[in-house]
Amino acid sequence: MSGTPAFKITVLGSGTSVGVPTVGCHCAVCSSDDPRDKRLRPSILVGFDNHNVVIDTTPDFRTQVLRAKVDRLDAIVYTHPHADHIMGLDDVRPFNFRQGQHMPIYASSETLGVIRRAFSYIFDQSPRSTYVPRLDLHELDGSPFDVLGVEFTPIPIRHGHDLIFGFRFGRIAYLTDHSAVPESSMELLRGLDVLFLDALRHKPHPTHSTVQQSIATASVLQARRTYFTHICHDLPHVKTELCLPPNIFLAYDGLEIEVSAR
Ligand SMILES: [Zn+2]
Ligand SMILES: [Zn+2]
Ligand SMILES: [Zn+2]
Repeated sequence: MSGTPAFKITVLGSGTSVGVPTVGCHCAVCSSDDPRDKRLRPSILVGFDNHNVVIDTTPDFRTQVLRAKVDRLDAIVYTHPHADHIMGLDDVRPFNFRQGQHMPIYASSETLGVIRRAFSYIFDQSPRSTYVPRLDLHELDGSPFDVLGVEFTPIPIRHGHDLIFGFRFGRIAYLTDHSAVPESSMELLRGLDVLFLDALRHKPHPTHSTVQQSIATASVLQARRTYFTHICHDLPHVKTELCLPPNIFLAYDGLEIEVSAR
C-alpha cells in the first residue's frame, strides 16, 4: 500500500466500565455540568475514505452511533472481551438491514469465544422468527490485517493477567485497557501522530494504567498528541487537563481528531 489515507477519529466513549456519571454516585464529577465529564463506555470511530470502523461495541453502542450520526458501519475491531467492550453487539442489526450485508468483525480467538457464548442466540442454528445480528467473523492471530485497504497492527498490551490487543493504523494507535505496555510493543509505537492511552485515575489499579503511568508511557513514545481515555469519576476534565504535560490531553465523548494523509 502506498501511504495511508486521511483519518477522522471520533471518541464515542471515554469512560471506564461503569461510565460517568456512575449510578448512585453524586460526587463533583458525576454531578458536573461540563459535558466533558459525561463519559460513556470506551470506544472510538475510525473514519477514512467514506468508511466507518468502530473499535469495540460498548453497552452504549446504540446511543453512541446515534449521537455521532453514524449511518453506515463497515467493520468492527475488538480489543478484548470484557463486557464494557462487547455488550452492544446486538445493535449492529440496523446496519445489517440498511446495508444488506453481514458485518465483518475482527477479534482474537479468545474474544470470539466469549462473543459466541455471550451471544449464543446469534450462532445457534435453530429456526427462529426474530432477527439476529449477521456477522462475518475474522480471527486475529496477532499479525497485521487489512480492513478496507488500511493495515491494522495488533499491539499486545498487558491488562492485569490478560494480554489483549491495542491497535495501530497509520500514525494512530489506540491502547485502551492496560496495566503495562510490553517493551516489544513499545517498538511498534514509534512515529505516532495520535496515541490513545488508558488512564483510569490517579490511584493504582491492578488492571489499568494511572495518569502518572500513562504520562510516563507517553513521554517515551513522544506522539505528537496523546489522549487519555477509559477515565473514571476521580478525574474532573478541566482540573486534570491543567496538570498534564504539553501535548497530553484527556479525551472526551464527541472529541474529533483529524489526521492528514501521508
Ligand atoms: Zn474496559
Ligand atoms: Zn462519582
Ligand atoms: Zn477490560
